[in-house]
Amino acid sequence: MSAGIHRIVILTGAGISAESGIDTFRSAGGLWEQHRIEDVATPEGFARDPDLVLGFYDMRRAALEKVEPNPAHAALARLEQEFAGELLLVTQNVDDLHERGGSAKVLHMHGELKSALCTSCDMRSPWLGTMLDRPPCPVCQARTLRPDVVWFGEMPYRMDRIYAALERCDLLVSIGTSGAVYPAAGFVQEARASGARTLELNLEPSEGSRLFHESRLGPASVLVPEWVDEVLSRAG
Ligand code: NAD
Repeated sequence: MSAGIHRIVILTGAGISAESGIDTFRSAGGLWEQHRIEDVATPEGFARDPDLVLGFYDMRRAALEKVEPNPAHAALARLEQEFAGELLLVTQNVDDLHERGGSAKVLHMHGELKSALCTSCDMRSPWLGTMLDRPPCPVCQARTLRPDVVWFGEMPYRMDRIYAALERCDLLVSIGTSGAVYPAAGFVQEARASGARTLELNLEPSEGSRLFHESRLGPASVLVPEWVDEVLSRAG
């Protein structure tokens, strides 16, 4: 699979952080930490009950302090350091476990818990504290911060950069994602249309499994280090 591989795009989803103790959406029957997606991950939910949404993400942000990256995050960091070709790591996750696992270059297409977006000035600022208490925006001072998380119905970040990489890559690897959330779920078709090989690493068959050339089933903490070893041994 890795012979002649020079440009890799990796897409990760909530499944890569599951063994670190962060719930996925689907594991709880479409709920996120006991909340309906419509309530905590849509602009309409935020408009309806901003306190619920701000408090929810304050809790998710605080919960990051209680979890650690797992061997899957560490393996991707090792790949970044040792792979001689081009690598783009795209994550749908809003946690910071890739960075804490050692990856220096991570594209968070759905935003980050540790970032705030001001709805007055549109600026994004690093954020570690709470938002429920309506702190001022560090840029314009308006008390209009929201989580810098891309909600359903909103445009993910850096799609131009991602599609450019998908057009050029010779391998797309999708890790721990259900293949249910677009546009990320469509990356496999984009990559295939450009002639790339496509590999899925997931605990169970995903909605998009049949679209991949190869699908390996198992926990990310096992499958990802194995795959990284394979790529680096063949490339070396
Ligand atoms: P998802 O919850 O829809 O799917 C998770 C997938 O991971 C499933 O297919 C499941 O079979 C697989 N999985 C579960 N445990 C695994 C393991 N140990 N090893 C490998 N695979 C495993 O998540 P998604 O596809 O990322 O999409 C949902 C959205 O949820 C994303 O937009 C994301 O922003 C958001 N989200 C993020 C986090 C996070 O940042 N950690 C957590 C929950 C939801």
